[in-house]
Amino acid sequence: MGIKVAKFGGSSVADAIQIGKIKEITENDKDIKYVVVSAPGKRFDEDTKVTDLLYLCLSHRDHKLPYEQVFQAICERYIHMEQELGIDAGMARELAEIQKQLEQGASTDYVVSRGEYLNGKIIAKYMGMEFKDPADFVKFSDKGKFLEEETNEEIARALKDCEKAVIPGFYGSREDGSIKTFSRGGSDITGSIVARAVEADVYENWTDVSGFLVADPRIVDNPRPISSISYKELRELAYMGASVLHEEAIYPARVAGIPINIRNTNRPDDPGTMITSEPADLPEGQIISGIAGSKDFTSITIYSSHMIGQKGFIRRMAGILEDNDVTIEHIPSGIDTVSVIVNNSVIDGKLDDILDEFERQLKPDSLDVQTDLALIATVGAGMASRKGTSARLFTALAEADVNIKMIDQGASEMNIIVGVRSDDFEKAIRAIYKAFVS
Ligand code: ADP
Ligand code: ASP
Ligand code: MG
Repeated sequence: MGIKVAKFGGSSVADAIQIGKIKEITENDKDIKYVVVSAPGKRFDEDTKVTDLLYLCLSHRDHKLPYEQVFQAICERYIHMEQELGIDAGMARELAEIQKQLEQGASTDYVVSRGEYLNGKIIAKYMGMEFKDPADFVKFSDKGKFLEEETNEEIARALKDCEKAVIPGFYGSREDGSIKTFSRGGSDITGSIVARAVEADVYENWTDVSGFLVADPRIVDNPRPISSISYKELRELAYMGASVLHEEAIYPARVAGIPINIRNTNRPDDPGTMITSEPADLPEGQIISGIAGSKDFTSITIYSSHMIGQKGFIRRMAGILEDNDVTIEHIPSGIDTVSVIVNNSVIDGKLDDILDEFERQLKPDSLDVQTDLALIATVGAGMASRKGTSARLFTALAEADVNIKMIDQGASEMNIIVGVRSDDFEKAIRAIYKAFVS
């Protein structure tokens, strides 16, 4: 007998049929003690996630537009689920309360967290398990910083005498009691922190794919699945854009040495992917464990023939970005050049000021800005010991007619990152996949 924490993502809890599947999965495995749930996700391709509908209500409200119709669509989803499952989980009353709060100006975090809260109520009732509200034990500071150690203790205390529970993902509360959410996709984090706090043997993350695939299945047709991969490799891939698991969900499981098992709710017999501290178990001849990336980065390249002899050049450059509250993704450099790569979302509206400061403080020979950069990481723990990996990668991109704008190979030598134009993003991923996997 062990303890498992099972997190079910949006598509796994999108409607009564899916909730029926998760009940079966949970009942078939007595070790599953704690079930963490997302808000209802998409039921079909053109559908909208409940969380997105809640954000839509808020943007309507904040622009003084009518939001009743959108809110009604949310109500119908929950009421319909309750009816289909043949239970009374108090949805009508709960929804009326949320509408009242919405009208009275409730915060964004409170409103969007209700997707998980309501689903938790329904699923707990249907599965005959206790409902535990994470507002009581997932803790954030008043400034919104996640308090990991305090939360760890609070969860352990809250679940000590509770043999089985359903816990909504995605949110907790600040010290003043107000609701605070993690970033999007954050139910993965809730699952992981619960697993750590209850000292689970496994953290199962149930979704709509049979595990981690070498590349995003929306870009590469039928990418190869990976039976096991290390926390380190997955962290790099998740951070770079492999959205199957939130990158912050890896740390809590990893410090506690708890394996994460990615599973498919629609194919529960598939073993999925095991994430542990061991490097990926790859098929003969395959040296990479994954390719992931995202669009929407900006690079600022500084050309300066005086840079080399100058002390503090990089520090001053980083200081300007820090003063503008901009985090840096990469700093590739050459003899007379240094580039900074930043996410477009953090530099939005600040670029001109930053360039002015670079001119004033760094006195470069010239500056070059590219705003349509995509970054792609090719990851594999065994890459470092193989000669010719980079050559193979660059040849594949050249043959696909993709121009490489930037190259960065992490010190871990487990990761080669290339920057390409956003328009070339998908083509580049397919070319790398073809060169290394198929
Ligand atoms: P959930 O709602 O269950 O949390 P997500 O949509 O967040 O599910 O994550 C699962 C999705 O991640 C898959 O449907 C797939 O399209 C996408 N994805 C992106 N990259 C990968 C990858 N390398 N392996 C598997 N899935 C991936
Ligand atoms: N419902 C939230 C989102 O859509 C959190 C999650 O599903 O993990 O981002
Ligand atoms: Mg997710």
